[in-house]
Amino acid sequence: MKPTDASLSVMERYDAAAEPVEPAPPRRPLRPAWIEINIRHLRRNFEIVNAFKPRHVQVLAVVKDEGYGHGALTVGRAALDAGAACLGVATLDEALALRENGLDAPILVLGPQQQAELPWCVRHALTCAVQDAAQVKALAHAAARARQRVPVHLKLNTGMNRYGIRWTEALSLVELILAQPSLELQGVFSHFAMSDEADKSFALLQLERFQSVLAQLAARGIHVKYRHLCNSGGLLDLPQAHFDMVRIGLLPLGVYPSRVCRRLPGLETVMTVKARIASIQEIGPGETVGYGLRYTAPNHRRIAVLPVGYGDGFPRVRNQGGALIHGRCAPLVGGVAMDALMVDITDIPEAGLWDEAVLLGRQGDAEITVQDVAQLKNSVSYDVLTGWRARLPRVRVTE
Ligand SMILES: *Cc1c(COP(=O)(O)O)cnc(C)c1O
Repeated sequence: MKPTDASLSVMERYDAAAEPVEPAPPRRPLRPAWIEINIRHLRRNFEIVNAFKPRHVQVLAVVKDEGYGHGALTVGRAALDAGAACLGVATLDEALALRENGLDAPILVLGPQQQAELPWCVRHALTCAVQDAAQVKALAHAAARARQRVPVHLKLNTGMNRYGIRWTEALSLVELILAQPSLELQGVFSHFAMSDEADKSFALLQLERFQSVLAQLAARGIHVKYRHLCNSGGLLDLPQAHFDMVRIGLLPLGVYPSRVCRRLPGLETVMTVKARIASIQEIGPGETVGYGLRYTAPNHRRIAVLPVGYGDGFPRVRNQGGALIHGRCAPLVGGVAMDALMVDITDIPEAGLWDEAVLLGRQGDAEITVQDVAQLKNSVSYDVLTGWRARLPRVRVTE
């Protein structure tokens, strides 16, 4: 019953702290760099999503990669409490970690499964995404041996060209699934390659292909409980593609998949990355900061050291970005090291040792958004959220 992930075990510690035991065990001090997961925001975001989606549309909460770095259990439980029908993960390991922590809700394994993994899926009541005949037969065999009838979701490739059976070849696989007494065709789904950009033409082409398969099923009187195509971008911008269920990961975390997709008022970012000032250096004109002497002070400067670096997932930039201290932005100076980065606090004279700094999120009226950090990384918001390493402790706050 031990959590497999370092970040989860930290959360367990904080859970234990919430229920006082006599005598109180001494709590290990928190590292002065950490991630706060705001449970109140998370719960409210799920409520906002629920209020936005049509009532009949179910939610499959995607909690792969530790719930995009927020803790799969934390996000999964909030989702289920808010009425989600199902959770989605990428790998068998992720699904088993949830089961080991006592989560018995339906879990769809979205990623590929090797043949040897299928009996494990059956044993732990996981729902498989199937995409080829060999996998269907092997799963049917594993289910029959366990004397079970297990649900499967058929994955269609409608243009992403990653996983799934081509939409033009889906029908024979459907018939193979229906011929297996140990399998139940519970879902049919596909995945958008571009749902959150202003140009929806490719998404609409994928929708058309998806609908052509659904029409073939309907013509044969085949009823499937869950037809699903939308991710967060699709939920926001493609109401005609909602069908019976939407698979959403990013949106309930209070982050939008792009700059142009629809906004839901009230959504708030769940993750905040913080550190405390661990050292302060006063330097004179001409002196440099950090490895490679990448910053030279033009005059007297006051430099704060934050004990977080690229080894924690902070982008390895130099003289770009910054941190919020006392509600103002302290620009990053020099290069980011593995365990430390330096910011200029000359203009924040009240800043002192062990004061709190925000590297991602809000402080007072100031904010460093996930998008801001994504720009530093030359990447997308998903990569920023999942990029923080396990050595940064996750702390759940209810604020
Ligand atoms: C990750 C993933 C999602 C969730 O996408 P978001 O944009 O985070 O909502 C949905 N479906 C599949 C197949 C995925 O891999």
